[in-house]
Amino acid sequence: MKHVLVTGGAGYIGSHACKLLTQQGYIPVTFDSLVTSWASAVKFGPFVQGDLLDRDALDAAFAKYAPVAVMHFAALSQVGEATREPGRYWRNNVLGSLNLVEAMVAAGCKHIVFSSTCATYGDQDGVVLDEQSAQMPLNAYGASKRAVEEILRDFGVSHGLEAVVFRYFNVAGADVEAEVGEWHQPETHLIPVMIEAAAGKRDALTIYGTDYPTPDGTCVRDYVHVMDLVDAHIKGLEWLLEGKGCRVFNLGTGTGFSVKEVIAECKAATGHDVPHSFGPRRAGDAAALVSGSRRAGEELGWSPEHSTLPRMIADAWRWYQTGGYSG
Ligand code: UDP
Repeated sequence: MKHVLVTGGAGYIGSHACKLLTQQGYIPVTFDSLVTSWASAVKFGPFVQGDLLDRDALDAAFAKYAPVAVMHFAALSQVGEATREPGRYWRNNVLGSLNLVEAMVAAGCKHIVFSSTCATYGDQDGVVLDEQSAQMPLNAYGASKRAVEEILRDFGVSHGLEAVVFRYFNVAGADVEAEVGEWHQPETHLIPVMIEAAAGKRDALTIYGTDYPTPDGTCVRDYVHVMDLVDAHIKGLEWLLEGKGCRVFNLGTGTGFSVKEVIAECKAATGHDVPHSFGPRRAGDAAALVSGSRRAGEELGWSPEHSTLPRMIADAWRWYQTGGYSG
């Protein structure tokens, strides 16, 4: 059986990847600091509690499990926080990733699937965002991810590291069986915040900005179901193991929804209205981020079949009813 080292395997997307890896016959080895994640989310393979800044812990994990590849999810990922505390983002996301790839080279592990983001593109005012688009991040989160992409390119040239880079658009939803899901404390992402507001766990959702140059004035995002996203990761892993080499893929549906449109879907999907108010823009937000690419479909055979708003909201709601994680 093939081990895959999953950094951030106790987090939202990483835990879903671990489930799908198990179903596909791999053994996911979670490497996670638990700083923003949960031990109880590790359900599908061995767990190494460690920090990417701890090179010895990484070396020990590679020596023990000899993974055929790495899926690298571990990162800080909140735009607002990144704008307030850029140093944490550069240290964790960039130095942590540098340690990881150096440990890979030392261990002779050549394949990495990396979680990058559409935030590397920044705001491009109506430009269709495909993989060739310029990368002009607006915040330290996007900048730190772009820097890791550059590290991967350099390590490819010099050390033969092969990376599939996925630039995620907005990930939402949860495992349909609700074994794992999205659980941050505090929650900041739109759909889970909306679910909390709909469930009465918070007073209201604040819409950040109503004066963007979009049809209804609120930000537009391209939402992808987490199960579709991790399905792409399996395809990316197999791409690497088949020797197809480095490639960058956007993961989005090509359709954007405004914050108001997302909120309007909540009642139908959950039976509950979303109490909301209007506030100022959040620093670092782009007006619109929508994927214009079909590359993942054409080259990986990826099709985001679960990524409708009603489905993502309904799955997030079902997961929320489980009470999430507490440790
Ligand atoms: N958003 C909002 N209120 C919230 C959380 C998010 O209006 O409480 C908006 C945010 O400004 C952005 C969109 O929802 O336009 C998606 O934000 P999220 O944090 O979910 O993801 P991001 O696009 O920052 O990765």
